[in-house]
Amino acid sequence: MSKWVEGTVVAQKRWAGLLYSLQVEADVAPFQAGQFTKLALAVDGEMVGRPYSFVNAPSARPHEFYYVVLPEHPLTPRLCKLEAGDSVYLAPQAAGFLTLSEVPPGKHLWLLATGTALGPFLSILGTEGPWQRFERVVLVHAVRRAEDLSYTEQIQSLLAQHAGKFVFVPVVSGEPCDFALGGRIPKAIEDGRLEAKAGIKLEAEASRLMVCGNPAMVTDTVHALEQRGMKKHRRRDPGQISVENYW
Ligand SMILES: Cc1cc2nc3c(=O)[nH]c(=O)nc-3n(C[C@H](O)[C@H](O)[C@H](O)COP(=O)(O)OP(=O)(O)OC[C@H]3O[C@@H](n4cnc5c(N)ncnc54)[C@H](O)[C@@H]3O)c2cc1C
Repeated sequence: MSKWVEGTVVAQKRWAGLLYSLQVEADVAPFQAGQFTKLALAVDGEMVGRPYSFVNAPSARPHEFYYVVLPEHPLTPRLCKLEAGDSVYLAPQAAGFLTLSEVPPGKHLWLLATGTALGPFLSILGTEGPWQRFERVVLVHAVRRAEDLSYTEQIQSLLAQHAGKFVFVPVVSGEPCDFALGGRIPKAIEDGRLEAKAGIKLEAEASRLMVCGNPAMVTDTVHALEQRGMKKHRRRDPGQISVENYW
C-alpha cells in the first residue's frame, strides 16, 4: 500500500489568531470517531507528516482537521497556506484508541480537551454512540483566551439537539471570562468547580472520562482523578480514564 493518499483541499478556515480548520476530500479508509490520520506535505523534497484528529464524524464529508499554527515548525506554517484546490497528503489508514469502543459502560461521559484536542470529541459527538450509551455527556474545552473557543456554533447546535443531556463547560485560563471557568482543568477537578459548573458528580461508579491534548494537562488530570478513586482504562484492567497526548 502506498504511504500517502493525495487529497484535495476543499476549504481553509481561520478562526482566531493561529487557529485554523482544513477541509479535505480524500479517498482514505473508514475511521472511528476519535481517531487520527496523518497530514503531509513535501518540504525540501521530503514528505513531512504529522498526526491530526478527524473533526468530522465518520459518515460526514469532507474530512476536517482543526489545528494551530506553530511558527518556526515544519508543517503547520505550510498547512495554513493551502487553498481550495491544492493537494495535501493523508495516511491511507486512521489510527488511535481515543474511541468510544475503548470506553467501558458508564452513566456519564466526560470529554476533556485543551485547545485543538476539541477535534476528536466533536467527531465523537457527531455520532449516535455517546447519546445512546450515556445519560449525560459533558464537554470541557480549555483554552487560554475566550477567542480560542472555536466551533461554538456546532456546540450550540449540539446543546439544542440534546437539551437536558449535554453540558458544555468552557475553561479560559489566560484572562477573566464571565461565562467560563478560570484556571486549568486539573485544578477545577481538585477544588470541585468543574463538577459544580457541570452539575454532575465525578465518581468512579458513574463517570467515564476521555482526556486529550496538552500532555501536562493530561498527566495532572489523571492524577487529580486518581485522588478520586479512578484510574486509566486498560483492556485487561478496566478503568474510567482514556487519554491521548498531542505531543
Ligand atoms: C495522536 C495525535 C493527534 C494530533 N492531532 C492534532 C490535531 O488534531 N490538531 C493539532 O493542531 N495538532 C495535533 N497533533 C499535533 C500535530 O501532530 C503536530 O505536532 C503539530 O501540528 C505541530 O506540527 P509542526 O510540524 O508544525 O511542529 P512540530 O515540530 O511537530 O512541533 C511540535 C511541538 O509543538 C507543540 N505542539 C504540537 N501540537 C500542538 C498543539 N496541537 N497545540 C499546541 N502546541 C502543540 C509541542 O510543544 C510540540 O513539541 C496531534 C498529535 C498526536 C500525537
